[in-house]
Amino acid sequence: MASGVKDLLGQTEMLTQLVAAARREHLHHCYIFEGPPQVGKHTAALRLAMAAACAWEGDEVPCGVCTSCRQIQRGVHPDVILIEPDPERKSRTISVDQVREVIRVVRLHRFSARWRTVIFDPADGLMPQAANALLKTLEEPPPGTGFILVTSRVSALLPTVRSRSQRVRFRAVPEDTLTAWLVARGVEATSAARLSRLSMGCPGKALALADGGLAELDKARDQLLNVLSEGPTELFDYAETLSQAKDARGALDRTLDALEGLLRDAALVASSRGDRLLNADRPELVAAWAANLWPTGLDRLQREINHTRERQQVNVNNRLLVEALLARVATELGSARRVGRSG
Ligand SMILES: [Zn+2]
Repeated sequence: MASGVKDLLGQTEMLTQLVAAARREHLHHCYIFEGPPQVGKHTAALRLAMAAACAWEGDEVPCGVCTSCRQIQRGVHPDVILIEPDPERKSRTISVDQVREVIRVVRLHRFSARWRTVIFDPADGLMPQAANALLKTLEEPPPGTGFILVTSRVSALLPTVRSRSQRVRFRAVPEDTLTAWLVARGVEATSAARLSRLSMGCPGKALALADGGLAELDKARDQLLNVLSEGPTELFDYAETLSQAKDARGALDRTLDALEGLLRDAALVASSRGDRLLNADRPELVAAWAANLWPTGLDRLQREINHTRERQQVNVNNRLLVEALLARVATELGSARRVGRSG
């Protein structure tokens, strides 16, 4: 398994600095790893935890072979604590009980590591009461303990949490770099180019798409377009179906991704930059969206998508969310068409 930082695409330089700080035992007590979903923040957080705990005395850390490194890779290291949303709950939130347990544990002696790392992912899942409970510990952590807050929505963190942390920004990987990386992993060149475009420079997303996700995304897009071409009844039925799906969250994410892809393409076509479309197989449709929505309709719908993603995080009723969004898309397309015709 890869262990160093050189394979962490696009983030190597920043991580090399953090790993060097870990070796000098100069890590900040709280980092925020922020950036788009699946860009590599979680992998980087684990890699930094490995570097901080690695037993190897040489330069190339984390070594990936010492007991510490292997335990972290297997998710069983006692001094690397990963806090994710409580799987027992339907919501994607981290509860105050989970935070209280962390505070209790970090007050105990470390087991073996040179450094104990606590990772919250996604840190924006910390409810205000939970975040408040954590503040004092973030400010004065027990010696030898550091926190990494992983988030794609840094604005959702409490200002008091942000001000106690050092922010590390992860950026999307340039398209050509990501394409070459995918090809090196055995992905066929044409697919690699489309995957790197669709993933918006996020390697984790590109790999997920390569692993069957692409077909699902295309299916989600085609269903969405079918529904939009029909009436309000079909639209509400579709919202119901999506929210009742076995993996409702994944289904909604794919629908939002598909919609975002169409808006992105429409913007490119409208500004005469349509040579790298995500939906290159539907050029006429993209051109129609560009003609109907550019520019203000695209902005409004993008805001509506952002709003939907945020509301979805706090687990309000997804059916109502999807209904509201689809109704808005249908209205924008419809009203724009009317304006287009009368003009
Ligand atoms: Zn090691």
